[in-house]
Amino acid sequence: MLNFTFKNQTEILFGKGQISEVPARLPANAKVLFLYGGGSIKKNGIYDQVVNALKDAEVFEFSGVEPNPSYETLIKAVDVARTNEVNFILAVGGGSVIDGAKFVAAAHNFDGEPWDILAKGATFENPLPIGAVLTLPATGSESNGNSVVTKKETSQKLAFASETVQPQFALLDPEFTFSLPPRQISNGAVDAFVHVIEQYLTYPVNAPLQDRFAEGILQTLIVEGPKALENPEDYDVRANVMWSATMALNGLIGKGVPQDWATHMIGHELTAIYGLDHAQTLAIVLPSLMKVQAESKKEKIAQLGQRVFGLAGAGGVGSEHIIDDTIQAVVNFFEDMGVETKMSDYDLNGDSTEVAIDKLIANLEKNGMTAIGEHGDIDPAKARKILELSV
Ligand code: NAP
Ligand code: FE
Repeated sequence: MLNFTFKNQTEILFGKGQISEVPARLPANAKVLFLYGGGSIKKNGIYDQVVNALKDAEVFEFSGVEPNPSYETLIKAVDVARTNEVNFILAVGGGSVIDGAKFVAAAHNFDGEPWDILAKGATFENPLPIGAVLTLPATGSESNGNSVVTKKETSQKLAFASETVQPQFALLDPEFTFSLPPRQISNGAVDAFVHVIEQYLTYPVNAPLQDRFAEGILQTLIVEGPKALENPEDYDVRANVMWSATMALNGLIGKGVPQDWATHMIGHELTAIYGLDHAQTLAIVLPSLMKVQAESKKEKIAQLGQRVFGLAGAGGVGSEHIIDDTIQAVVNFFEDMGVETKMSDYDLNGDSTEVAIDKLIANLEKNGMTAIGEHGDIDPAKARKILELSV
């Protein structure tokens, strides 16, 4: 097991009716930027519950944070926050709104061009504190310090991370997810699954507890994910999916183990250039990445197959089929969740897959993603090979 430090500052308010706990967690004399997305919260009643929770605060609403939040939109929210001198941000939505809130929080007191926080890793001081009301279990953003923002002008989707922008509290009410359309239920389960994989599917470092945490989350998603599609209003199913997605990326399972975020890095380019949903990009990249990296990941791929997908009967670690069978089991899970796994399954704005691969590789190079993976051995040539297996 590798050395680590671990702290997670987010207080989780989990369960039905827990919104009643929110007012007590707002600052005194709260001036709140209430940040949300395209309006789903107005149709499902969450908006009214939030307005009620904020009734003693001074509230400035900012709506229209889009999926894969754009710098162009968020910079307008920064303006609203600065003009009104808010002292808190309440983000109500999925990963896009919560990631967006982190960027607004970081940019608030930043002296200079806030895009530098993403493009140059510029440091920032005194970010605004954030609370999150989660409506889409997927990203783990409600309980981590990561934020991914897209600059439409240059087709760049970049990330920054800081525990100083991690939400102070996160409300996880499974009933708030009943209204999710099937596509977002599917996306959420696939994103959370891949987050776990990226902290698990590397090489063994004698960290059996971390492995068991990861395997427990993966198994829960595989069993409960399809049930959420079948019975959207089953509270316990939603509760278990929601908690799985949070646990997948709140920092815990990645401690003491190597990590490989290459699937996310390559996937980000597919969203930046072609606008695919985040989870769709992961379903395209991961199976091919497993094939190309099979040699260096073979012990953990076999362990995934045996322990998570129950493929022990196929002959165990030494079996010649276990790698292929495990990769196929991952593909089957994505397809069971209704997420297609090939580039050609999606609309690439009229580009052929060959042209698309050239553009994706050029973007990876532009963004400095030239030595990714747990060994830093995924260079542009290897990334091209991965994409070529994904057409
Ligand atoms: P999202 O982009 O936040 O939301 C997708 C769609 O779902 C939106 O149209 C949203 O509508 C709708 N929606 C959300 N909750 C709903 C509900 N309860 N009922 C009906 N519709 C609902 O999706 P996401 O997958 O959570 O976030 C994706 C973003 O997070 C990507 O940019 C990705 O790169 C990033 N990400 C971040 C991390 C991290 O660690 N921070 C990790 C992985 C990915 P509204 O617009 O109306 O809300
Ligand atoms: Fe993700």
